[in-house]
Amino acid sequence: MNHASYHNHTHFSDGADAPEAFVAFAKAANITSLGFSDHYYKASPEATATPDWALPCDALDHYFDTIHDLKIRTKGIEILAGLEFDWLEHSADWLKPIAQDPRLDYTIGSVHFVGNDAIDLSPVYWQRLTEDEINHVIRAYWTAVRDMAASGLFDIAGHLDLVKKFNFYSTEPMDDIISEALDAITDTDMVIELNTAGWRKTCKVCYPAEALLQECFRRERPVLISSDAHQASLVAADFDRARDLLQRIGYKKLTRFHRRERFFVPII
Ligand SMILES: [Zn+2]
Ligand SMILES: [Zn+2]
Repeated sequence: MNHASYHNHTHFSDGADAPEAFVAFAKAANITSLGFSDHYYKASPEATATPDWALPCDALDHYFDTIHDLKIRTKGIEILAGLEFDWLEHSADWLKPIAQDPRLDYTIGSVHFVGNDAIDLSPVYWQRLTEDEINHVIRAYWTAVRDMAASGLFDIAGHLDLVKKFNFYSTEPMDDIISEALDAITDTDMVIELNTAGWRKTCKVCYPAEALLQECFRRERPVLISSDAHQASLVAADFDRARDLLQRIGYKKLTRFHRRERFFVPII
């Protein structure tokens, strides 16, 4: 079984529980390597205000100190520090110093915004769009994923096809821009996460969907399993199902991180 869980949100951002609660549930689920990845969002180089679902920019030290303290206090399970970065257009310059913080064990790069609009917040946003606008948003989403990957700042591509969350799909081919995104992910040697949260959302399909995972496998992209848990009880949600899917595709190894170095363990 997979023994690592790296994509978890605590009450430092929009999660419901404290880091300690995750430790308890992770131990019960036989997780041996537990990472935290609270949301890091910075709208501009000067921005100091933070939305309530993200880690306040001035709370970074407290976040890292808390996780460091947990690393020292916790026995029988490895504790890692990560962040899930919100990729915004042209944000590479001001995200870079944070993404290179030596206290990080890994970084997740995620696209949640197209322009100023959060694409994963509510189906109402999608219901108001025309067919052409939906196609435009989906293309802009994949363009942002491409640019996020090309920045080279992040280890893991977060929930690769999140844009399908509310079951709105394009009516135009997107193969070209998806290929560009996967090319950038390959060029910068990013790891893909099989994010089980998709199975719990309206789309009822994991991120990324099986066909995309097969494409990642063909491109020899390393993989790991994550839950995107916003409550401690979900720290290993559907990990068995995820492992079975990866094995069916042909994956034999899962990726681990430690201080930005990656290594691989067999899927068992
Ligand atoms: Zn996310
Ligand atoms: Zn997340």
